Amino acid sequence: ETLNKIIDIKGTIRVFCRVRPFLSTDKRRTLEPISSELDRVIVTSSGSRKEFGFDKIFHQEANQEDVFVDVEPILRSALDGHNVSILAYGQTGTGKTFTMDGTTVQPGIVPRALKELFQQVSSDKSFSYTFSMSMLEVYMGNLRDLLASKLALRANETVNLNIQTDPKGSVEIEGLTQVEIPDFAKARWWYMKGRRARSISWTNVNEASSSLTRIVISRRGDTPEAKPKISKLWMVDLGGSERLLKTGATGQTLDEGRAINLSLSALGDVIAALRRKKGHLTQILKDSLGVGSKVLMLVHISPCQEDLEETICSLSFAKRAK
Ligand code: ADP
Ligand code: MG
Repeated sequence: ETLNKIIDIKGTIRVFCRVRPFLSTDKRRTLEPISSELDRVIVTSSGSRKEFGFDKIFHQEANQEDVFVDVEPILRSALDGHNVSILAYGQTGTGKTFTMDGTTVQPGIVPRALKELFQQVSSDKSFSYTFSMSMLEVYMGNLRDLLASKLALRANETVNLNIQTDPKGSVEIEGLTQVEIPDFAKARWWYMKGRRARSISWTNVNEASSSLTRIVISRRGDTPEAKPKISKLWMVDLGGSERLLKTGATGQTLDEGRAINLSLSALGDVIAALRRKKGHLTQILKDSLGVGSKVLMLVHISPCQEDLEETICSLSFAKRAK
């Protein structure tokens, strides 16, 4: 109904759910209240049963490869000229950073996507491509340019980046470092540099920062007069989704948190709020969440009983986003 209309008009949004496996630090390891089937998560608590549907669910045992297989098609869209956003959402500790960055032995979406982009274009005979990369962090309402030469290495140093929208609606972040990445080795080198430059500990319960990687793709046909087609691929590790009261966030953290929660609270509202320019994050992503763009939201949940309340919040959000 109206939802389909929104999707038609605003672009395509797919929502996946990933359930984190139990960790040795989890207090109790029982899956009782949460069970997941092919395309739904079922939560049973105090006698009530709630079902949440998704485009795809990754169960506890799903590995990084399993997830990436379903992310790959959207990368193709980015190469074809669509703006694409891949967003990791969820409570702190549910695996957002694991999904996006992963570890050396279990690399996540970002390093895999970098590799995949180069692989895909190496076999493309009709177009030539160039890629450039930027990495930034939105933290306490400030932007940090993670690839800037010296600044990025000092904690709490922020750069005054100016976010602008040109008449065609394309968002530009003035002064943001953008490096050419001619091959995967170079891309990986910059990516690792950007990761090291992040300011806060990622296990912080009060995690309020979002980490963004942007690949600008320029595609050119083989005739000399063909104009290059430019698209953006954003890969975003959103700040923890905890409700504000619980995190006790104050001041600017609260504003950013509120902006995220507001803008992501419902699909219709997502886009509406994004267009209302609330907060840096929403401003930055404006042209990659709207018309003609493709969005993949990965909602992360904890399998633990003690996180149930937060889990239901995240699942409910996802339900509205679908
Ligand atoms: P978040 O970024 O959402 O706060 P993290 O990615 O830091 O969460 O994950 C919290 C912890 O759980 C980390 O130690 C991480 O390695 C582990 N973890 C999360 N998801 C998985 C997974 N799918 N497989 C193995 N370990 C995971
Ligand atoms: Mg994290």
